[in-house]
Amino acid sequence: MQLVSRDQWGARAWREPNGSIPYAGARAGVKVHYLGTRYAFDTHDTCPAYVRRLQASHMNDDGWSDIGYSFVVCEHGFVYEGRGLNRRNSANGDVPLNEAHYAVCGLVGSSGSTEPTPEQLNGLRDAIEYCEQQGPAGPEIKGHQDGYSTDCPGPALYAWVRSGAPRPSGTVVTPPSQPAPQPDPTPARYQSSVGGLSYGYGAHGPQVTIVGEALVAANFGSHYTQGPGPDWTDADTLNYADYQRSLGYSGGDADGVPGEASLRRLLGGAVPLAEVSKSRVVAAARQDPDAAQGATTYPDDVYTVEQALRAEGLLDGQWVDGSFGTSTIDAYAALQRRYGYSGQQADGIPGIDSLTRLGQAHGFTVTG
Ligand SMILES: [Zn+2]
Ligand SMILES: [Zn+2]
Repeated sequence: MQLVSRDQWGARAWREPNGSIPYAGARAGVKVHYLGTRYAFDTHDTCPAYVRRLQASHMNDDGWSDIGYSFVVCEHGFVYEGRGLNRRNSANGDVPLNEAHYAVCGLVGSSGSTEPTPEQLNGLRDAIEYCEQQGPAGPEIKGHQDGYSTDCPGPALYAWVRSGAPRPSGTVVTPPSQPAPQPDPTPARYQSSVGGLSYGYGAHGPQVTIVGEALVAANFGSHYTQGPGPDWTDADTLNYADYQRSLGYSGGDADGVPGEASLRRLLGGAVPLAEVSKSRVVAAARQDPDAAQGATTYPDDVYTVEQALRAEGLLDGQWVDGSFGTSTIDAYAALQRRYGYSGQQADGIPGIDSLTRLGQAHGFTVTG
């Protein structure tokens, strides 16, 4: 079974105390679910983010303490740990139903991709057997609609459940005398911190988009099927590893997780910061315009502000260089006017209020 732990898919912590309620008694078996919404099969690197969104909708929209299912199975056959074996699920309809069966959901839609893949049926079977053997649970395999009014798990999965939830025909069982094929190595799933900001799998924020766009601009975007965006996925890691290898890094140094040196090279010298100093930015805004073109005083602080101005549509990317030159002054003055300032208060020299407001919109905090 290709189990993806909560850490590996980047699960949020469940809410206490309800998320920790254990099963009170033995489970009779497993109930199978589908999404019941539109769903389109995609590449596997998008699956962890989808499961995170599913968890978010259960916790935010449904008000549950965690993702409702015990396990979720993607169309590639990977089994995502939801509430797992010991914590009571909330997907079967009511507390007695949740107590009686585990809840295993296949990522199958009520429109779009409505037929499970063979890999997915294998993964569902893996999850069911895992529940039976490790839960443990009894041998019942049912659909959500057994004993509860719902269309779930949809016609295709329900027919499969009714036929005994078999592994699909043609499933290749590797003889024990032959070595099992080695899976592709999983991209690194840990993070680094540069400038107080996180990079690597699961990291989120404008800095992730900045790196992705810089990778694309440097022709290291081949692994993106969508994005780049603010959520760091395996595609970001694979692209960053390609970039690291282009710098001559190898082995663990080309793990696709940014270090400070490679990040500065990618971004042109400066890196974004989690916390910007207003006094440093003001000092740069007073010194940089009269210095040589591109001269920098506090490049990281200024670069962070410039990236925010670029995201606001006020500064062209060519001037995002860590130097608070005249283009940046003009862009900041335009921001101040947008914020309702005029006259001397819209002179392009950052004040604490405008800078704090800009940071709130673009992911940095401001000190004096
Ligand atoms: Zn269901
Ligand atoms: Zn997948």
